[in-house]
Amino acid sequence: LAPAAAPERPPYLVVTNVTKRFKTFLALKGVSLEVREGEFVCFLGPSGCGKTTLLRAIAGLDIQSSGTITQGGRDISALPPEERDFGIVFQSYALFPNLTVRGNIAFGLENRGMNRGDVSARVEELLALIGLTEHGEKYPSQISGGQQQRVALARALAPGPGLILLDEPLSALDAKVRIHLRNELKQLQARLGVTTIMVTHDQDEALSMADRIVVMNMGVIEQIGTPLEIYNDPATRFVADFVGAMNFFDGAVSHENEVQVGGVRLAVDGRTPARGAQVTVAIRPEDVRILGAHPSAGLDAPNTLKVEVGDAEFLGSEVRLSLNYFTSGPMVAQTSQESVRALGIQPGKRIDVCLPADRLRIFMSGANHV
Ligand code: ATP
Repeated sequence: LAPAAAPERPPYLVVTNVTKRFKTFLALKGVSLEVREGEFVCFLGPSGCGKTTLLRAIAGLDIQSSGTITQGGRDISALPPEERDFGIVFQSYALFPNLTVRGNIAFGLENRGMNRGDVSARVEELLALIGLTEHGEKYPSQISGGQQQRVALARALAPGPGLILLDEPLSALDAKVRIHLRNELKQLQARLGVTTIMVTHDQDEALSMADRIVVMNMGVIEQIGTPLEIYNDPATRFVADFVGAMNFFDGAVSHENEVQVGGVRLAVDGRTPARGAQVTVAIRPEDVRILGAHPSAGLDAPNTLKVEVGDAEFLGSEVRLSLNYFTSGPMVAQTSQESVRALGIQPGKRIDVCLPADRLRIFMSGANHV
């Protein structure tokens, strides 16, 4: 899962303090980031957070209200799209319906004045790359959605741009095709080494494809990090909530490294705010450790609670348990089917669980950060 950290390449695309105002609405509130050469970066966030606006500013399809964008050291902030160096793929494949697959891929090349022999060689190369050599003479309506999206990608790649922009390229496809294309796209990008930015609201897509993820919310960047950093070490409560499942409990700091939640004192690793501070304690479902039927040997250990199983939802190999304890709502734990069977867990059963101190995260209530 954890790839060895790639040696850091120089920044290729640099976005500095970009804002975008639509009349009185500020869609981007001062966004800065760097994308390294050859990197696959995802802009991830809920609908309306500004990710498409940022992508469009990078493409020059919309010009930012303030701030600068450089690509390969060149200031492109004010350039129209045709003077920038990128290929783009949209959610709706936007292929030309009256052109064959070959014609679609060739379109941008012919427009650039490439000679016929070179165009034809390049088109064949791209067809082979996307595995559609046999389908070159078909029209878009004669191939599947997944194949159409591959053609759209080949068309964007054809002129050999320095940057590929993908705007929710997989979201119109059905689940199976989407997951298959995810892998294919990621492998292709890695093989070609082309710097790529993909907009998505799908966290699984971002976690599985990106070298680094830019998590956005309401026009600001909440966190930039590798998928593992974003998942294991969310910088803000928003990121903790948006990426992956998370339990949140309201509490107050009772001592250094100790938080009181609903009558229970929980030891926490790491820094806590001043005593008395209102905080939110967070733990992922898979980090809630099931000790066994109550009373279990571990009950006296720190951070161990007696809970009642409310519901058990089977998710294939895993089981999601809804556990009643804190007044702020049920806690969710995720465990294996095997352990559910071995411990005889079923709705109504009392069990002991441990919330390991090193798995608890603390966020200031109201504020986003510790
Ligand atoms: P989605 O996943 O729904 O596309 P997004 O994160 O890509 O969301 P944007 O399309 O970037 O969001 O939009 C950010 C905000 O800016 C939204 O509130 C949107 O309504 C607003 N917005 C975008 N384009 C315009 C426009 N042309 N005029 C006015 N407001 C706009």
